[in-house]
Amino acid sequence: MLKSCYIHIPFCKNICNYCDFCKNYYDEKLVLSYLKSLQKEIKENYNKEVLSTLYVGGGTPSALSYNALDILFKITGLFNLNDNYEFTFECNYEDITDNLLQKLKDNGVNRISIGIQTFNDKFEKTLGRKINKKEMINKINLTKKYFKNVNLDLMYALPGQTLSDLKNDIKCFINAKVTHVSTYSLMIEEHTKLHVDGVLQINDDIQYKMYKMITKMLSCNGYKHYEISNFSLPGHESKHNLTYWNNLEYYGFGAGASGFIGKIRYDNTKSIFNYIKGITRVYEENVDLVKMIKDEVMLGLRKIEGINKNDFKNRYHLELNDVFSLDEMIKNKMLIETKTNVFIPEKYLFVSNEIILNVILNCNLN
Ligand code: SF4
Repeated sequence: MLKSCYIHIPFCKNICNYCDFCKNYYDEKLVLSYLKSLQKEIKENYNKEVLSTLYVGGGTPSALSYNALDILFKITGLFNLNDNYEFTFECNYEDITDNLLQKLKDNGVNRISIGIQTFNDKFEKTLGRKINKKEMINKINLTKKYFKNVNLDLMYALPGQTLSDLKNDIKCFINAKVTHVSTYSLMIEEHTKLHVDGVLQINDDIQYKMYKMITKMLSCNGYKHYEISNFSLPGHESKHNLTYWNNLEYYGFGAGASGFIGKIRYDNTKSIFNYIKGITRVYEENVDLVKMIKDEVMLGLRKIEGINKNDFKNRYHLELNDVFSLDEMIKNKMLIETKTNVFIPEKYLFVSNEIILNVILNCNLN
């Protein structure tokens, strides 16, 4: 079975006020040591299977020097990729140049993901990241000259954001005419500057209105809403992320990465320094059949099409409706059942976590 692979590059030139990812300030010496450990981890754990997707995320992979990029691409050259592979590379718009894009292209990258978040410079100070709308648009257009497949990240529920601010932002995302938009509501996590500064989360009602606005505007402009937070032009769904939602196996390499290989889910250390010392996995969990089935449903219901009952049966030799008591939820219209699929209706997607939890609680397996 084809597998996927995620590689984490935890270095950034600037640290955003909301960030709780595994990252560190860019330091070339540290980066080179990190890449050595990355190569070691991959050589020791990658079993030479054919991969269908490769995703280099961060952090800010585009922050790497050209020397470091050359080393990284020697490492990614170790992977066997299939003919239709998808190779995504995350970029900060400020790093994008002709030279960088050409280098990525020459090394097999065929999808770029740009962390735009917002085009509105009113949020520059709050988010702690540089926001220059004109430059962002120029860099997106430049990227499109080299790559057909481009994702933009859109962040909403920003402190002080109004519906009108968001509407203007969504228009810019639509005008950018890229193939994919991933959306995130800003979560104010502990240990972030926003949290320490006492900035409060925007209230749930406004978040819901924002979610509805995003869904409506993107859908009316040709984007298919295919997962709770993801939209694509037809045929440009993220193959890599679908690996997660389809509960398939994937490698995770690098500090802070997680993986699911050989029925084991694992997390790597979040400490870059321990990773450089050679410590990789710090958590492993055996995924037995019951856990596998629950994960399948938990992840599958994130997709707008939900769970295909036949695929479920083919994979587990069990009927979905026997394994989970869904009648009550179907009766209450929290779930929709068709001949082939079970899914969460559009109007309940915003509260999908509660519905998914309810489904899991109604599992008849021990
Ligand atoms: S949000 Fe992204 S770019 Fe900003 S500090 Fe975190 S990892 Fe780096």
